[in-house]
Amino acid sequence: MVMNVKPVPTLDDEINEIRLATATIINKEILPNEAKLWGWLSDSANAPNEALEEAKALRHQIQNKVKEANLWAPHLPKPFGGMGLSFLQHAYMNEVLAYSPGAASLFGVVAPNSGNQKILVQYGTPEQHEKWLKPLTEGRMQSGFSMTEPHNPGSDPRSLTTRAVLDGDEWVINGHKWFTSNGHAADFYIVMCRTGDPNDKSGATDKMTQIIVPKNTPGVKIVRGVPVWGRSSSHCEIIYDNVRVPKENQLGRTGTGHQAAQDRLGAGRVYHCMNSIGSMWRAFDLMVERATTREVHGGEKLEDKQFIQGFIADSYIDIQAARLMTIHCAEKMESGADPRTDISAIKIFVPEAYHRVVDRAIQVWGAAGVSGDLPLANMYLGARTLRIADGPDEVHRILIAKNVLRRYHAGETWDFGN
Ligand SMILES: Cc1cc2nc3c(=O)[nH]c(=O)nc-3n(C[C@H](O)[C@H](O)[C@H](O)COP(=O)(O)OP(=O)(O)OC[C@H]3O[C@@H](n4cnc5c(N)ncnc54)[C@H](O)[C@@H]3O)c2cc1C
Repeated sequence: MVMNVKPVPTLDDEINEIRLATATIINKEILPNEAKLWGWLSDSANAPNEALEEAKALRHQIQNKVKEANLWAPHLPKPFGGMGLSFLQHAYMNEVLAYSPGAASLFGVVAPNSGNQKILVQYGTPEQHEKWLKPLTEGRMQSGFSMTEPHNPGSDPRSLTTRAVLDGDEWVINGHKWFTSNGHAADFYIVMCRTGDPNDKSGATDKMTQIIVPKNTPGVKIVRGVPVWGRSSSHCEIIYDNVRVPKENQLGRTGTGHQAAQDRLGAGRVYHCMNSIGSMWRAFDLMVERATTREVHGGEKLEDKQFIQGFIADSYIDIQAARLMTIHCAEKMESGADPRTDISAIKIFVPEAYHRVVDRAIQVWGAAGVSGDLPLANMYLGARTLRIADGPDEVHRILIAKNVLRRYHAGETWDFGN
């Protein structure tokens, strides 16, 4: 099966060309090699060395083709080694990229590095660009984003208690974090710290600062990779015990840490949603492919059963609704309008829709659906996780209601069509 991407009449030539070029690489280089690249077909923990070496060489080969096609690092501006896409162009490219889960990494986009790169571009000094951003973009370094804490609710960033105190020319950091993704491989973490007056109990968000901490700094203790969905993971629990780093490792001005996290997450949520939509198309194609080929009970195909037709129709509706909502939100962001209500709306709706679509696709495939022979099982776990990460559904529902009610209390109604 290949992805069917055609020029979209409402998109400009440049983005249509980028989408077609991306689809060509995915169809030719990635889809036929998925099993080798990601090792779905076997237990990767026990994969033979030759298989791992082959996958590494293949990844390198594909990355070179991506670079030759000028499709490397769509999330970064040109001076920083990226494609220099506009926000909307990047969103539209992501939809295509995510048809093959994992493909983004072959195009230079790997979370959490990609989010960290964006913070470094926006808030970093020229020295920080040279020391941290450049090696990250060239693949010579890895990174993590260390914000969530086990003993405080991540959904309320004002509650974070990891503290950094200035001692001469050094920040001294003490705190306990977890779910720092990529924690084992990272060379450095961007750590969210409380830096305001220690007696201030207001929980104000302008008392947060992000600080770069190299992993090998004395006092950084990785407690464990927290197992996720019953598998070992690199989402690490980390203790920062009197960790000292130079003052120049601070990102942006003191107190801008929360704003930087919002900048990272706001745009990131739209990109994540476009990713989910690309993956939904894949799950949909897989579901329809199976429905049109699998014979059951006396020779009828699954596609002849109304239950299955219902799955197909409902999934089509879910994808189109999710896609239109996300594009609407992305267009608002691009135009400079306030997108917060819409970001919360897509952050709830798209992962839920993704979850439903993949769930139906798995049902149609039966046992094969949960096997490692298809990408569906991983997609399912990813979709469920998305309903928690980057802000749980409930928090976004509260934000939508607050924003709407504020307007009505101010004597206004919601703008029609906005
Ligand atoms: C796979 C994965 C990767 C992650 N990667 C990172 C990372 O790299 N770096 C990082 O810093 N963090 C990371 N996180 C953490 C993630 O951002 C947090 O899990 C998320 O912000 C929620 O915080 P929490 O887990 O502390 O849940 P809590 O804040 O404790 O919330 C738990 C539940 O309480 C409910 N709830 C919360 N607030 C309200 C409310 N106001 N009203 C009603 N109900 C409410 C919701 O149902 C919510 O799911 C990751 C998480 C996962 C699962």
